[in-house]
Amino acid sequence: MEFKQCEFCRRPYPHMGKSVCSECLIKLDEEFVEIREYLYDHEGAGIEEVSEATGVPRKSIFYLLKEERLIVGDENGCVNGILKCESCKRPIPTGRMCSGCKKEVISALNESIGAYKLPKQVIEEDEVEISIKGLAKLQVK
Ligand SMILES: [Zn+2]
Ligand SMILES: [Zn+2]
Repeated sequence: MEFKQCEFCRRPYPHMGKSVCSECLIKLDEEFVEIREYLYDHEGAGIEEVSEATGVPRKSIFYLLKEERLIVGDENGCVNGILKCESCKRPIPTGRMCSGCKKEVISALNESIGAYKLPKQVIEEDEVEISIKGLAKLQVK
């Protein structure tokens, strides 16, 4: 069986096609439901507020943003650089790459199937502190 490092808790786990271990998967799903419920009543709440009100750690929120399950941005659509495209570093509202870079990856994939691998990303605690500090409105995608 292939073992991988969980992107969230960093423990090795038997790889079944997900980027996090089954424990984290269940936990993140529960946390996502909490956040969704909260945002249902508090549309456009900030990350700090959501984290405090639901008890969901900011690290989880950050992960859900990367997974495109949450979107971040203010009323002007400004994304404030919490999330950056992993390729060109442009601020993005959700996910790991901007739409332009995604397209490039897809065309690269078409040219050489299997040759291109997305960089593996482990969420750093420090990065979360810096990236999420001071801002923004969350939406459920
Ligand atoms: Zn894990
Ligand atoms: Zn980009």
